[in-house]
Amino acid sequence: MQCPLLYRFRVIDRIPERPSPAAARGTVVHAVLERLFDLPAPQRTLQAATELLAPQWERVRAETDELSELFDGDADAMAEWLTGAEELLARWFGMEDPTRLEPAEREVYVETTLDDGLTLRGYIDRLDVSTAGLIRVVDYKTGRAPSEVFEAKALFQMKFYALVLWRLRGRLPSVLQLVYLGSGEILRYHPEESDLLATERKVKALWAAIERAARMDDWRASPSRLCEWCDHRPRCPAHGGTPPPTPLDALDRVSGPTASVPLPPGLDEDA
Ligand code: SF4
Repeated sequence: MQCPLLYRFRVIDRIPERPSPAAARGTVVHAVLERLFDLPAPQRTLQAATELLAPQWERVRAETDELSELFDGDADAMAEWLTGAEELLARWFGMEDPTRLEPAEREVYVETTLDDGLTLRGYIDRLDVSTAGLIRVVDYKTGRAPSEVFEAKALFQMKFYALVLWRLRGRLPSVLQLVYLGSGEILRYHPEESDLLATERKVKALWAAIERAARMDDWRASPSRLCEWCDHRPRCPAHGGTPPPTPLDALDRVSGPTASVPLPPGLDEDA
């Protein structure tokens, strides 16, 4: 949806991207918010969450080769990074009270196959289920809340999750909740069946466009503000670069078919 050429570099060519401190922070903060709920409710304090940061960082770093030299011995950069993570956690405690929450599921993998054979899958940060059985889908974002103009884009990911859950479990989630730790704002949406049917149509259309792009080997660059953070600028024609030849098995690489949002845990793309 954002840039077909970026999709190609990531999904078809699978060109590795440099890890950024912000993305690593997002991954670690997500891990802390998941693990915090292992503790009994009264012990889920900001201090407990802060104490989880270092061990979670060590775990994530050990599991992700690219992160091993992220700070390269720069103690000041590491300290600044850690302070930023603590600030995100502190802001979250101002928005939600974990001593009063009992998530039904955390970091849950969901997958379903649509009637045309397309498989959808993703990881949901948190699922809350009320005593009346109402489902709330929660996603943490370490960035700032989008302006109204970009809200629809942010909600697409949530509607995608809601669609997968609906098709998988036969229940329509009642609330989709985006928690923006960067700005301390919460975006809530109450999806209706018609929303999710429209999302399903959109996902199918996107998949058809991806297959068409693979068949035609036509992956257009779509420059935007995203380019500022894009690792692929040196090979992007929109920035004077030349892409490498598309792998010969591009069509096989997109066939499956599978659509997924977002990246697996360990690589938090929202950051
Ligand atoms: S630099 Fe911009 S236009 Fe080029 S691939 Fe990245 S996001 Fe797309």
